[in-house]
Amino acid sequence: MSAIDLAHHIHPFCDMKDMARHGTQIMARGEGIWIFDSQGNPYMDAFAGLWCVNIGYGRKEIGEAVMRQMNELPYYNTFFGTSTQPATLLAQKVTSYTQGLMSHVFFTSSGSEATDTWFRLARIYWKVLGQPSKKQVIARRNAYHGSTVAGASLGGMKHMHEQGDLPIEGIHHIGQPYWYADGGDLTPAEFGLKMARELEAKIDELGEENVAAFVGEPIQGAGGVIIPPDTYWPEIERICRARNILLIADEVVCGFGRLGSWFGHQHFGFKPDMASIAKGLSSGYLPIGGVLISEKVAAVLAEAGDINHGYTYSGHPVCATAALENLRIVEEEGLVERVRDDIGPYLAQSLKTLEDHEVVGQVESVGLLGAVQLAKDKSTRQRFKDPDRAGRVVRGFCYDHQLIMRATADRMLISPALIISREEVDGLVQYIRHGLDHLREQHLD
Ligand code: PMP
Repeated sequence: MSAIDLAHHIHPFCDMKDMARHGTQIMARGEGIWIFDSQGNPYMDAFAGLWCVNIGYGRKEIGEAVMRQMNELPYYNTFFGTSTQPATLLAQKVTSYTQGLMSHVFFTSSGSEATDTWFRLARIYWKVLGQPSKKQVIARRNAYHGSTVAGASLGGMKHMHEQGDLPIEGIHHIGQPYWYADGGDLTPAEFGLKMARELEAKIDELGEENVAAFVGEPIQGAGGVIIPPDTYWPEIERICRARNILLIADEVVCGFGRLGSWFGHQHFGFKPDMASIAKGLSSGYLPIGGVLISEKVAAVLAEAGDINHGYTYSGHPVCATAALENLRIVEEEGLVERVRDDIGPYLAQSLKTLEDHEVVGQVESVGLLGAVQLAKDKSTRQRFKDPDRAGRVVRGFCYDHQLIMRATADRMLISPALIISREEVDGLVQYIRHGLDHLREQHLD
């Protein structure tokens, strides 16, 4: 199977020569937070697939609901004034979690398509309001918003920009609120304000009359689970309102309970005008995403005439059914509250015990999204000379011991399914500690 895969399959975010050296690992089955490869080896998946399998693997209810819908109506589109029952009910359901903030949703099949969607809608919004020059969009360095051309452009990842001549025109980046790396002598609170004010400076440089929107992940995911200081989001919101630009939250990772709230913006207490969603919407059982749209924006879009944007699979009835069933499980099992009141605090407390380790600079988490920051010298916040290598050493050790963890440079990322048990958290933290011991033994510079 591995040989066939290597012969015919180009993988996302993958060095093909490197993969050919190691062979493809075929994953075959999942149960709870565990994934089994084709040889039957179990792995603890501390990453919920790609931050998405929130209800865990192996939930038969989803398969059964999907099968019923498949047999009833496998596909119909939502173009030209038609809909299906699952798409309509899902629209009602997802907006109901927004505390009255979002009145509408536009469905996509992925987070990247959601990014491209709000990017266009934001420009349409200002055009309808008679301000067509407001079309520049500001994002942040080291953000991730997807792999489509607009998504990769808005994302602030240099290695993505270098491939394919990105970013496209009209996109600008400011700094990220990564206190451990860039905070210097400032307190986290001071640093949060400083980084938020880069937005103000950028809007003023571009001219308020030319700026459509600012986008940010409530907590940057792929960038390294960068948790902003508490001062950051209120100041960003103040600036967006004062300068009259749209505020967009990328909720693809933070949405649907990961932070112990339905959405990340609710945790941080700000109110975006639009928000992209995907991943936890269906727990990854089938591909579906969307853009949540506030009453204010929806009212303007209603004046736009034809909105010439949409995907064949927008509101796909089978994917919408999977999402509805997933959300039923999240609600019935009280998973959002569980993350907020029980397993999130338990993970935080368990992870904190790692802060006594020589190679750990800081441990942070909100709900079930966490990061272990590696450090060469924790007393001065000095990092390893080659941060990527340090992360790779810990990640490689964990993988060899059947724990799937991800690293972004020298931050070890944790994002397990919301159903993880306390015993599994204990096992996870214990294995991370072994990985850290292994890193210490390497004596890296
Ligand atoms: N936004 C964020 C914050 C993400 O983490 C991702 C995916 N990791 C995306 C957008 C893109 O989503 P997709 O891969 O479904 O296109």
